[in-house]
Amino acid sequence: NRLHNDFQFIDVGREDPEKKPARTRAKQFAEIYEPYQPQDAAAQAHRCLHCGNPYCEWKCPVHNYIPNWLQLVSEGNILEAAEMSHRTNSLPEVCGRVCPQDRLCEGDCTLNDGFGAVTIGSVEKYITDTAFAMGWRPDMSKVSWTDKRVAIIGAGPAGLGCADILVRSGVKAVVYDKYPEIGGLLTFGIPEFKLEKTVMERRRAVFEEMGVEFRLGVDVGKDLAFDELLDEFDSVFLGMGTYKYMEGGFPGEDLPGVHKALDYLVANVNHCLGFETDPADYVSLAGQRVVVLGGGDTAMDCNRTAIRQGAAAVTCAYRRDEENMPGSRKEVANAREEGVEFLFNRQPVAVVGEERVEGIKVVRTRLGEPDENGRQRPEVVPGSEEVVPADAVVIAFGFQPNPPPWFESVGIELDDRGRVKAPEEGAYAFQTTNEQIFAGGDMVRGSDLVVTAVFEGRQAGEGILDYLDV
Ligand code: FAD
Ligand code: SF4
Repeated sequence: NRLHNDFQFIDVGREDPEKKPARTRAKQFAEIYEPYQPQDAAAQAHRCLHCGNPYCEWKCPVHNYIPNWLQLVSEGNILEAAEMSHRTNSLPEVCGRVCPQDRLCEGDCTLNDGFGAVTIGSVEKYITDTAFAMGWRPDMSKVSWTDKRVAIIGAGPAGLGCADILVRSGVKAVVYDKYPEIGGLLTFGIPEFKLEKTVMERRRAVFEEMGVEFRLGVDVGKDLAFDELLDEFDSVFLGMGTYKYMEGGFPGEDLPGVHKALDYLVANVNHCLGFETDPADYVSLAGQRVVVLGGGDTAMDCNRTAIRQGAAAVTCAYRRDEENMPGSRKEVANAREEGVEFLFNRQPVAVVGEERVEGIKVVRTRLGEPDENGRQRPEVVPGSEEVVPADAVVIAFGFQPNPPPWFESVGIELDDRGRVKAPEEGAYAFQTTNEQIFAGGDMVRGSDLVVTAVFEGRQAGEGILDYLDV
């Protein structure tokens, strides 16, 4: 019996869920992976060795009970697996889709020694998708509601993680967001080919059934004074993300045809979802030669969006080598399959053009001494300038914190990089310098990952429960 074989990992190789053909993918804003069939999910889950010390669990930022739910899936026990996976993760179906597993759980799987890691992320996604389709919902029957109420600003993964913990302990969570839908960057940043928007719509319905209240389309600080929230609620959690665009700082950046990554992606999502407010915001790169600058997840999403819009050619220029790219290797491979060309070890020095973009001047680099984070610094190779012809340039160098001015008046202190001070190891986890206010996610750690934002939101939720003595 295939499913009861301790040496399954020898007999059955790693198999990711099937991908749609690259040619089909390149025309669609739809997820590229087909769902696992039950027998395939079970066979893949059963490849887990159940090592005594599960490195995958340590490497997973929310410390999922991975071998335990893999075992349940291999036995066909999906509902129990869903209960278990929700004990540590508020958005397992999202993390299963967008985590850079090759750098996290799967990167530390013992089976990487020649056999191929267990497809942990795909099984995690399968568990929740299947359980929801079977009608499973988080069990709230034992929750007794308290009179405590917490306001959450930001319906991104940090805010949602916090709300999940609070309602499960009977604390009313009211989530404010300036956008018309929940999800933060999950909805208005990450494109549909990685995460279809119906996933967050379903999650919204589940959270509402659990007792979370969403007040959307409210920009706190503009439409509603923050002080009112401090008066009305016992505590406030901030999960507002980081949105300040990092400029290249080179000549020509203002030329027509140069686009900011997030503006480009958000306008495209809004266009696809029909949320468009001003049609002038939407940029189509159809028929153009596009150069995307950067090597992270955002750059990869811009590359693949341009391909889907029908760009004539898409080239991604990055200043380090492929080995040192910050984004997920899986997504780089997907981009390549869809037709993106990569130019590694190229640093932009100027956008060239008279009236509009005509190209991008780059220099070659080689990797030198490590910087303060241990990453090798790119050093310019003298005399290596070249111009890459382009009709459009998309700049994807990342984001910095953009704390609103009213933080100071309520005593929220920032570090020297503009991140909110809210230490995990404080008296209460993720409490800010105003004891009533907690914070987590990108605005505390700087731009990072969905799963780390979920983790911090959940930990802050625990901190709030301790603070409120619930
Ligand atoms: P956000 O998701 O940014 O949510 C913050 C929310 O706060 C927003 O909805 C915003 O509208 C709201 N808000 C802010 N200010 C106010 C206010 N004054 N009033 C009301 N609401 C407010 N991570 C991965 O793990 N995998 C990926 O593949 C991946 N791809 C990415 C692709 C792109 C293009 C980008 C930009 C990021 C990507 N990331 C990825 C990173 C990930 O999306 C973020 O790290 C994560 O969403 C941060 O969560 P958060 O809750 O801290 O903030
Ligand atoms: Fe892996 Fe992310 Fe799931 Fe953790 S949350 S098991 S890192 S896919």
